[in-house]
Amino acid sequence: MRPKTEVYVNSRGIGSEGGLNCFCCGEPQSLASNIAAFVDSKEDGEDAVAMFISGAARLYPIRFGCSVIQVKIGACDAHFSQLTALHKLFVATNTLSKQVIDRSRV
Ligand SMILES: [Zn+2]
Repeated sequence: MRPKTEVYVNSRGIGSEGGLNCFCCGEPQSLASNIAAFVDSKEDGEDAVAMFISGAARLYPIRFGCSVIQVKIGACDAHFSQLTALHKLFVATNTLSKQVIDRSRV
């Protein structure tokens, strides 16, 4: 059943990455703070990316030919606390959904 409305995620923590938009305000960032989180499959990763506003999340294979997929989610400096909240929700629930995203943005 696709698209899934809930995806299993395993957050690796917060780092920095170029070329992501903020998941709250959508502003393009030359260097964005971001969460990197493992997902179970490419399909789960695509469903995860689709839950975010355009350009705020992207799939990154760990390396080509490898089945381990991670999703990266960007934030601007003004929304770093929302990114931290999202990371904490991932750690607490191992779940990504629109509801989880909304909870992180309050
Ligand atoms: Zn922002």
